[in-house]
Amino acid sequence: MAIQVYDTLNRKKEELITRDPGKIGIYICGPTVYNYIHIGNGRTYLSFDIIIRYLRYRGYDVTYVRNITDIDDKIINKAREEGVSAEEIARRYTKAFHDDADGMGLARPTVEPKATDHIRSMIEMIEGLIKKGLAYVVDGDVYFEVTKFPGYGKLSHRSLTDMRAGERVEVDPRKHHPMDFALWKAAKPGEPAWESPWGMGRPGWHIECSAMSRKYLGDDFDIHGGGQDLIFPHHENEIAQSEGYTGKEFARYWMHGGMVNIGEEKMAKSLGNVILVKDLLKEHNPNVLRLLALGTHYRSPIDFGPEKLKEAESAYERFLNARRRIEHSLSSETVTMLPEKVELIGSLENASLEAKKKFIEAMDDDFNSAAALASMFELVKEINTFIEAFGGQMTIMAKDALEKADRILLELSGAVGLDLTLPEAVGVAEKLPDAIYELASAVLGIALDSKKKDQLLDEILERRNEARKNKDWAIADMIRDRLLKMGIEIEDTPLGSRWKIK
Ligand SMILES: [Zn+2]
Repeated sequence: MAIQVYDTLNRKKEELITRDPGKIGIYICGPTVYNYIHIGNGRTYLSFDIIIRYLRYRGYDVTYVRNITDIDDKIINKAREEGVSAEEIARRYTKAFHDDADGMGLARPTVEPKATDHIRSMIEMIEGLIKKGLAYVVDGDVYFEVTKFPGYGKLSHRSLTDMRAGERVEVDPRKHHPMDFALWKAAKPGEPAWESPWGMGRPGWHIECSAMSRKYLGDDFDIHGGGQDLIFPHHENEIAQSEGYTGKEFARYWMHGGMVNIGEEKMAKSLGNVILVKDLLKEHNPNVLRLLALGTHYRSPIDFGPEKLKEAESAYERFLNARRRIEHSLSSETVTMLPEKVELIGSLENASLEAKKKFIEAMDDDFNSAAALASMFELVKEINTFIEAFGGQMTIMAKDALEKADRILLELSGAVGLDLTLPEAVGVAEKLPDAIYELASAVLGIALDSKKKDQLLDEILERRNEARKNKDWAIADMIRDRLLKMGIEIEDTPLGSRWKIK
């Protein structure tokens, strides 16, 4: 069955049918760079990172656009508070955002447009909207006229009357309708401003995303995403602008990620309970944060707290412990005389395939990562049982089955961006002796230190396998002997050769 995606606009799961087969264009609203991002923002970006990685795993060629809003009231206010320029604030927090994004292990977007680099495209759209009678100019400001766009409210499922309910702010008398929103704002003295047909000014936030998504993904594209807090007014307004301008359906699917509560409270500056991503990353491995995101469906809220973190920590440890036991079993001596426990081997192989099947079924069903994670834990359980049953005495067949299970575990975790590399394995390459370089130059003809030592070692082993295949025993034995002298032991298995430092 094809991938199912919950569409906020139609309020149901739908089969994912992309505009161009095999390709996906996706736009995610990026940060307004005036502050550090908090765990709520972090979760949204993590959720979409998981989704995008999975779509790539399923073979889609994904064009991922995530913008930087580097001009906005919030940036201007912050600059004023600190007595610095808006550019400086934007530069500082763009860098901070990139540090946090890298720290969380997010894949970089294919394109990361900045609003201030696209002012001309925004002006072009605004002019088009005025020409079509969907927008009007007042004193150098330009407003979108919501009553002229029949579909206004279709994403948030609210009528204009609903939107006005509970309204307390004083309505700007220059607007035709209280819900009309700014496409262009006339500059006040001292504010960053650009030339436009309506005088010096700057774009409104909503038009930024309409213009940038159109530029990189076209008039219509596949998925538009963001946090649920962006449904209204931001995404509602984007639809009005883009569809009003192009006359085409804007995004095929609207995906929205759930919010993060602190305990059971809403996270808010006024409540003083805002948790920043950079602070969490100081104390927690990024895989722990990713496991926390994976453990809850992306549309559901997360009640964040110490227990949640502890759960994710122990999930991460469970994975790492399994991987340690696997590595240990694979590097232990292979026994030959043990009667094959054929049944156990068959059942691990089945469990591996079953885990992969369940994982894909779960992720295909509107990215049900919690169920996908459960299937990975089932595999871990099977692996642990298997290792215990063999008690460190594995035959070649048993090792093969275990290695396959390990490979599937790594494949599935990699599909959602979870890195289960053992922390202690990082740096092993550094422990390899320099003599590797000489051997590489002798048998591969590769210049000294042209590559990393572990890479060279892999190539040397490949060269040796080739020699063995050609029954060129002199070379094969020479390589083995010289490695042994360096303290590197080779074990030949049906799946290739493995090495370990003695
Ligand atoms: Zn946006």
